[in-house]
Amino acid sequence: MSDRVTSTIKVINKDESWGYIRKIDENHARDYALYPSSLSKSSNLVYEELDEDTPVSFKLQETNGFFKAYDVIVINDETQSNTITQTVEQPISSQSFTASLDSPTSTSKNINSSLTDYLTGKISIDDSDLVIGVVSAVGTDSSLVTEPLVHRLLKFGYTAEKIKLSSLINLENHIDFENEEERINSYIKAGDELRKNSNNAILAAGAVTLIEKARDKNKKMAFIIDSLKHPEEVEFLRKVYSDGFYLLGIYADEERRLEYLKDRRGCVVEGSAQRLIDIDESEGFRHGQRTRDTYHLSDFYVYLGSNQDLINNTLQRFLDLIFSSPYLTPTFDEYAMFMAFNSSVRSGDLSRQVGAVVAKNKQIIATGANDVPKAGGGLYWSEIVSKTGKVDDAPEGKDYTRGIDSNKKTQLDMVQDIINKIEVKFEQLQSINDYEKELKKILIESTIGDLTEFGRVVHAEMEAILSCSREGISTKSASLYCTTFPCHNCAKHIIASGVERVVYVEPYPKSKALEFYNDSITLKSIDNEHDYNKVNFEPFIGVGPRRFLDLFSMSLGVGDKLKRKDRETGKTLDWSHEKSSIRTPLVDGSYDKLEQAAIDIWNNRSHTN
Ligand SMILES: [Zn+2]
Repeated sequence: MSDRVTSTIKVINKDESWGYIRKIDENHARDYALYPSSLSKSSNLVYEELDEDTPVSFKLQETNGFFKAYDVIVINDETQSNTITQTVEQPISSQSFTASLDSPTSTSKNINSSLTDYLTGKISIDDSDLVIGVVSAVGTDSSLVTEPLVHRLLKFGYTAEKIKLSSLINLENHIDFENEEERINSYIKAGDELRKNSNNAILAAGAVTLIEKARDKNKKMAFIIDSLKHPEEVEFLRKVYSDGFYLLGIYADEERRLEYLKDRRGCVVEGSAQRLIDIDESEGFRHGQRTRDTYHLSDFYVYLGSNQDLINNTLQRFLDLIFSSPYLTPTFDEYAMFMAFNSSVRSGDLSRQVGAVVAKNKQIIATGANDVPKAGGGLYWSEIVSKTGKVDDAPEGKDYTRGIDSNKKTQLDMVQDIINKIEVKFEQLQSINDYEKELKKILIESTIGDLTEFGRVVHAEMEAILSCSREGISTKSASLYCTTFPCHNCAKHIIASGVERVVYVEPYPKSKALEFYNDSITLKSIDNEHDYNKVNFEPFIGVGPRRFLDLFSMSLGVGDKLKRKDRETGKTLDWSHEKSSIRTPLVDGSYDKLEQAAIDIWNNRSHTN
């Protein structure tokens, strides 16, 4: 928090609703913009009362080269003694005022004063823009989430602007569509075309362009991008807005989505709703729509069911966390999933890192990751070699030490074997080489590619269960949290182990678990009751592992540290929506600007010791 500054108003232009305050200290005179919105209660009435030389007190901020007097401006009582009322030597016309806003003529120390204050913790940024991306499968009525979100952001003083990605897609010769399926498909195809011709994140670049256009520098703005359909769009937005960007994953049951597409969107042609859902999940090529691969990148997961109160309260909690509420702590599910994610990062698997934990009575009893097993129990760990002092892996242990994924290699061997055994009699193919090439392509793309059992690694779920058995801990009635939906091979062992609840984040389309074991597994959502006769598989809801530390840790997260009590009195500190600020704000300055601010701090350090 910066101290309040007192000074006087130098120019007030009531007709055009702006003015400026000139603050003079020992060395410098600087001008700060003043708008009615920066006045107490944003009241134009207060603005009307202002005159030149009215003593005011305010806080300062720089945004995009604008120096603004912000926070509540208090009009000082004239009897107050400490008001600075220095006069300006030379009145400035409105023109030169504008110029001084765009390119301040003060020294570099002054240009960066708000950044230096930010770096040294004197101020926290409390009018940063907020960018929220939404990812949801087709047939999800996302307005049930985005509308209350817009409404709730108002409480924090934020104006929300929806950025519709579909508005970026220009359908040239559209106009009349036969039906809804055709209309949605046209958009999907046009989106694919755009990605194919430029790059997979092109719509995210379009979203940034729309955000820049919609930004109103006099307002605190939140931008809601609806909806992202490709993982590279998310990567792109994280590069642009870094920690100021949040991805909100909306989960809706397939049944509910089918119903919505049929009843509300008029997808009445037989099978059309299902076809759309399948295409939307993944079109199966790099530049296609890939909602399934995008969803699990979310920072926060909300369940869109029939209970609107639940949706609203989930969103409120999400926003309270973003806006630095110090009194929100994780649910056990969130904690357990975070621990599962933590476990996953020890994995040296060549294709994906998966983590799992087994929990019982809200206590984590075992962890697991996917990696190669080691004799004596457990998986290979990297270890410090005492002779050399290097951290190293056992030779021929983890897959990378062998330089190949045994699963992929075995699949390829199988394909080659089939090719070798088939009689070569295709006349249209000029040579046996062409024939082999074609057939190989077909076989590789076939379901042979879905086989997983030739991998050397133990899957994370299995390792977690096995670690229970190594230590003699019962897995009966336990819960299992895993970062990815279990494969069918693990699923049968999960069922056999007596685990009764499985929570997962990332879908795993190769898994046949639900198909093979529908007698023992049910896909449960918040809306239906726990089935005690089956193992309940549930999608994860809540704060995802990715931003867990940022949102829950008082000190380890990115952004401002959290305080819960007054150090002297021990009493809890007040936190309110109105006064809260974003914990990981968008800092107005690239690293070279921040670097310059740091250099200024160093150069202007006190020499007095
Ligand atoms: Zn598995």
